[in-house]
Amino acid sequence: MGGGPVKNILSIAGSDPSGGAGIQADLKAIAANGGYGMCVITALTAQNTQGVSAVQAIGGEFVLAQLEAISADVQIDAIKIGMLANAEVIRAVNGWLDTVDAPVVLDPVMVATSGDRLLEDEAVLDSLLDRASVITPNLLELASLLREPAAASWPQALEQAQCLAAKHGSLVLAKGGHLAGELCPDALVSGEGVLAEFSNPRLDTKNTHGTGCTLSSALATLFAASGDWVCALEKAKAYLFRAIGAADELNVGSGHGPVNH
Ligand code: PLP
Repeated sequence: MGGGPVKNILSIAGSDPSGGAGIQADLKAIAANGGYGMCVITALTAQNTQGVSAVQAIGGEFVLAQLEAISADVQIDAIKIGMLANAEVIRAVNGWLDTVDAPVVLDPVMVATSGDRLLEDEAVLDSLLDRASVITPNLLELASLLREPAAASWPQALEQAQCLAAKHGSLVLAKGGHLAGELCPDALVSGEGVLAEFSNPRLDTKNTHGTGCTLSSALATLFAASGDWVCALEKAKAYLFRAIGAADELNVGSGHGPVNH
């Protein structure tokens, strides 16, 4: 085991061959934030900036084989979990998580911005939520996890985030990017209330593919380095803001293009 200053960050997620979301975004965000990125692939997707045309989940046994190969050899300093595809993959990941001691950022990926489903049955995610250090749902995922209608305002989103945090004894990152308004607020919420809130101006671009993957990976990487969720969130959000701000420098596809790491 090395004692170097660079932290080892594991992404457990799906592949986006167009490079904008999933493990490809995760590895770019981890590297850009100073971590050493590893990834266990849970599903292959065929997709581009316009949508997902096919999904091929990896079998639970092979997901577990990948996870065990890493944990048998490498110290894992933080874990980011993204697309899990189905109940079999979730069971494999959940069982393995009992054997490792590392903070977990769980992005409960359910449906892509394009409307394509990335998880067969949303109910099966419940079993993982208690193990998460931080859950990072967008507003639709937050509502879905609570089986409630989506929040229509930021105060309502914060209330739902607090409710989810209390239910699972974890922190929840409430993300306001899908609400209308000039500002994009994000808040770290515990079962007791808001711990910290950061806002930035809304950027005028359609190229926001992979923002959720990027933020959760940056958060895991920066927490591994600092041990402080609030400080990690402030830096991760600043990183994402820069990456969205630079997105239009890329020329990738004709749909919702990726952010620029
Ligand atoms: N594809 C994969 C593999 C993902 O993990 C995700 C989101 O986490 C997406 C697609 C959707 O990305 P977006 O909603 O930003 O387009």
